[in-house]
Amino acid sequence: MWLFGNRKLELSNAELRPYVLKLKEGYLIGLAYLPSIASPCVGCIQKWLLDRQIPSTEIDIEDFKLREDLFKKLAEESNPHICYEVSADGTETRLENCIFPHPSCDCQKENHQLPPNFSWNLSFAFSPLTQIKCVRYTTPMGHLWLTSVNGKAVESGQSIRTYGTGVSKEDSRKRAIEEWLKKASLSDFQFMHLPKRPIPAESFQNLGATQIRLEDPLLLGNGAGADYSKATLQAMYDLTKKRTLERYSNNLKNPILVVGSHAWLRNRMPFFMLQEYDWYILFYPNSSPCWVVGMAGFSRLHSDAKPIFVFDSHPNIETALDGVIGKTLEACRPDFDGNSKPIAPVSDSEESERARQKNLWWTHWIYRCSKISLKELQSMESYTEDLELWRSYYRDGQPGVSLVPGNTTAYPRKLVSLVQARLHEAKAPAPKVFGIGTSRDFQANWN
Ligand SMILES: [Zn+2]
Repeated sequence: MWLFGNRKLELSNAELRPYVLKLKEGYLIGLAYLPSIASPCVGCIQKWLLDRQIPSTEIDIEDFKLREDLFKKLAEESNPHICYEVSADGTETRLENCIFPHPSCDCQKENHQLPPNFSWNLSFAFSPLTQIKCVRYTTPMGHLWLTSVNGKAVESGQSIRTYGTGVSKEDSRKRAIEEWLKKASLSDFQFMHLPKRPIPAESFQNLGATQIRLEDPLLLGNGAGADYSKATLQAMYDLTKKRTLERYSNNLKNPILVVGSHAWLRNRMPFFMLQEYDWYILFYPNSSPCWVVGMAGFSRLHSDAKPIFVFDSHPNIETALDGVIGKTLEACRPDFDGNSKPIAPVSDSEESERARQKNLWWTHWIYRCSKISLKELQSMESYTEDLELWRSYYRDGQPGVSLVPGNTTAYPRKLVSLVQARLHEAKAPAPKVFGIGTSRDFQANWN
């Protein structure tokens, strides 16, 4: 219960308290957790504001008479992620956020609470994400959204930009933000641990404690999901994708070209992508309970433009195919005015000639692949999404896999669970064939 004016403010959640922050112009008011109990607290909010060059001073709520009525609304909602910006003339702007714990705040960051009725469409203005942009494309099947997210990893300070696509705006925001959290968490992990020092981890096969070192040779699967086991599954799919691609390219083995996909692609891709590129779907059979597919795009406008290679993996083949379509849009990186940005041709004539020859090589490479029809591919049965299936797969003569949790207080676990799966397999040296067709050509879009 809080007194202000001469009235009492009834709060259903006793751990929350109202605050008033005086800004350079106007005020910011809301409810926040007591720092000794949970996050976000008012300190988190002030620190995020300061990060955006907005200094604020907390004033006594009794000295704030401008819009006392708003406290009643706040009390009714009892949500520390909602605040009102009140300008000097009393007009208010309601902000619906998902507020992150601020890394330098001393509140109970471990006990970070998500907004009730959480949605990925909420504002992330109080978080390490400094920019989120969404753009919508139209395909015969419906809409395809592309979101771009930007921000600096909390510990390493590395600038990270990620993309996500989806059939709804929220879906694409979710994917882009999850990607960002995975990359930021990995960047911090590599920054915070010293080489040669053992780092505690969990053995995926044996479920026991184990140790890893930063410099261990490995392939890394990065997963995000609603909880630890869902994130671990995602990390398994990611690991399979990288491992399969590395095996194919190091053994100079061709994938299978998917034919009869013209109409299917036409229905799912924005028109400009079909105008600018010739697309090929690739299928990479592998021994794990997960399908790996890829797409190659060759510019129709510039014979010396770099081809696009993207990949995805999932136990359900349709989901994997949808995923890879989304990744083509991310890889084309159209600008966010909705126009496509054709990849500029290489200017140097010698370079240009080499690029042209390489493209010719890739075209031959594609046509050397054996073929499967899209119908046949789509009829592949789904594997169950089950961690036990993966455990028995990796127990059966496969190299060891260690799991490392990726969440820190900076990347709240309740928002999304993060896991690294580290496969301990010495890398086979890549064959030297002018760097053509080896994993180097794919790695740019592995992640
Ligand atoms: Zn705090």
